[in-house]
Amino acid sequence: MSAFNLGFPRMGVRRELKTALESHWSGQSDDAALLRSAADLRARHWALQSLAGIAMPPSNDFSLYDHVLDHACAFGVIPPGYGWRPGERVSLATRFALARGGRGTAGEAAAGIARGTPALEMTKWFDTNYHYLVPVFQPGQEFTATGFPAVEAFEEALALGQVTRPVLLGPVSFLLLGKMAGGGDALDLLPGLLPLYAETLRRLEAAGARHVQMDEPCLALDLPHAARAALCHAYTALAAVTPRLSIILASYFGDLRENLETALTLPVAGLHLDLVRAPQMLDVALRHAPPRMILSLGVVDGRNVWATDLSRAFLKLRGAAAARRFELLQVAPSCSLLHSPVDLAPETGLDPELRGWMAFARQKLEEVAILARGLTEGRGAIAAELLASDARQEARRASPRLHDPAVAARLAAGRPEDAVRVPFTRRRVAQQARLNLPAFPTTTIGSFPQTAEIRAARAAHKRGTLDAAGYDAFLAGQMEAAVRWQEEIGMDVLVHGEFERNDMVEHFADFLEGFAVTKNGWVQSYGSRCVKPPVIFGDVSRPAAMTVEWARRAQALTTRPMKGMLTGPVTMMQWAFVRDDIPRDAVRRQLAYAIRDEVMDLEAAGIPIVQIDEPAFREGLPLRRDEWDAYLTDAVTCFRISASGVREATQIHTHMCYSEFNDIMDRIAEMDADVISIETARSRMELLEAFVDFRYPNEIGPGVYDIHAPALPEAAEMERLLRVAAQRLPADQIWVNPDCGLKTRKWEEVRPALIRMVEAARSLRG
Ligand code: GLN
Ligand code: ZN
Repeated sequence: MSAFNLGFPRMGVRRELKTALESHWSGQSDDAALLRSAADLRARHWALQSLAGIAMPPSNDFSLYDHVLDHACAFGVIPPGYGWRPGERVSLATRFALARGGRGTAGEAAAGIARGTPALEMTKWFDTNYHYLVPVFQPGQEFTATGFPAVEAFEEALALGQVTRPVLLGPVSFLLLGKMAGGGDALDLLPGLLPLYAETLRRLEAAGARHVQMDEPCLALDLPHAARAALCHAYTALAAVTPRLSIILASYFGDLRENLETALTLPVAGLHLDLVRAPQMLDVALRHAPPRMILSLGVVDGRNVWATDLSRAFLKLRGAAAARRFELLQVAPSCSLLHSPVDLAPETGLDPELRGWMAFARQKLEEVAILARGLTEGRGAIAAELLASDARQEARRASPRLHDPAVAARLAAGRPEDAVRVPFTRRRVAQQARLNLPAFPTTTIGSFPQTAEIRAARAAHKRGTLDAAGYDAFLAGQMEAAVRWQEEIGMDVLVHGEFERNDMVEHFADFLEGFAVTKNGWVQSYGSRCVKPPVIFGDVSRPAAMTVEWARRAQALTTRPMKGMLTGPVTMMQWAFVRDDIPRDAVRRQLAYAIRDEVMDLEAAGIPIVQIDEPAFREGLPLRRDEWDAYLTDAVTCFRISASGVREATQIHTHMCYSEFNDIMDRIAEMDADVISIETARSRMELLEAFVDFRYPNEIGPGVYDIHAPALPEAAEMERLLRVAAQRLPADQIWVNPDCGLKTRKWEEVRPALIRMVEAARSLRG
């Protein structure tokens, strides 16, 4: 009884949940059909986990959209306007309107939800690429139970013959993840919230649950004293409610540091520790945990794709077992497997060597089960598995595919000058002379609509029914039409449209050495949206130019400047699964030089402007403040290495989105891009204030319209925003562009929007 799991991916191995959700949202299936698909997935996942040897698979880890939203709904934390009244259950219409905004469907209309009702704000779940919906607490928020989803999930599993361990997001993390509509401290709401948790626990106990997992991921953050006090208060109260229900408090994603002592003194039955991110916690926990506290040891990486070194992990567990009876130890993944792809078995496209190094969620659970068996039955019981693991690890370490002497030499020869250009003031003169742009130059962020036609052509090419020449001709046609159209409407700096790219990271991964791409390694990003991060397994280098041909062909079509389009080293790494055998900084440095080569090849091909996208720049920030500096210094340096090989007359742009920049302004300025385009339209140019206060020295394109908004932007509104910008910044510093790439929009939307944008710029010039 010692192999546990903290959470399983929800989507299904073929992304069945995505299909079911999207069919429901488009009106093709009703509530019952969606709920049936969800129940099927849960049943399948419970069965799969117990088959893998997990003692009590988690329940209530599933969600139709997001588990934080589910908790908000369960507690009646629903702002007015979403078709819910206290005392009622929360309908799917309400739940999805909170998640996605009012879409004007019949279901919403029946529930009284207006079209255009905004969605809740969405933000990143700690330092993962999963996004949760931010609960909004009203002034004087009262909590009311709208149902007990954790109890329902437990009973659903029980009916299938499975005793599960229900998962709840703990009350302190829940409050800290939300925001107060009227200002104030969300932790003040704890006394009103605790009775609902207590009632949930009571009902779980009555339903037959013996363990409950309460997640308090906030333990890995810098916490104010009040939050630690709140944890003590909450768990002291909850532990007294149900003495027969063991609470396993789960932390993950980092070293608990000063919060570890707090966690170890809480009157809970057990504590889960992420020993992949913070192995050093084990000794402290073994020394200081109360004698009867269960320690759940997260030794299998829940966030990466590498097979566990079972011998090493087992050694760690044996050390723990020497200090503590094994009944008091549990083996688990480091965190919920939500962040891991589902199953490696169907990845038949990966070469066998690489595959042998990897483990997805299903394989990770097998690893957990093996380790747990060794712990209870002794090393002999898992001797064969340990040998096999040793052989795999040894093969990986010895593989010639990991290390490329040329890459090592390149990095060793790197000099500080690699990250320095001549001062911006000089570059600016040279660039102005070369580009000869008007005031308020107009441009876009790179991609144009990925139409059904493009997707069909790509699929046909993949299937082999459209040959390389045919596909190339098709893409060239799309590009030419886009270039002509940009000229026609008077865009100043053109883009080729990125029609040949499926994804801004995977596209480059296909060209770079050291990268592998999976077929089905999907991970949930938000709602039905999944991402498929490529895998960096070895030293990264660029055997040949990746984007030069398309850029050159695009530039040949026009006399206006064409902007080359690249993904930067920080983002490439942030959105990949990264090898764990060398430090992350080293991987990022390799990427920086690979991108640098591409930038220089673009320059040599006559491309006057190169944009290096870094939308994930801020995402990489560590959870703890005192680690920010080291990360930012390295990230800035890597961006600069990629950008600084070019002559002064070559203009470097960067693009960032989904970010608050205020607290890292100085570092963004240090990146020293000639032009940065940022997302500002949604916050009405508030973001721009940060750039003004700091006196951002180079040029800026504050996004003048929100490309994600359903309504078309008005020229007058864009002009107004530009005037706001022009009041705050020198006019010759301002560029005019949308706030992100346009690949998710339709041409019918993009055409009028960009025509109006150019109009707004012209009127401002006047
Ligand atoms: N150049 C990319 C595009 O236009 C940038 C995407 C992004 O910011 N995420 O699609
Ligand atoms: Zn963007």
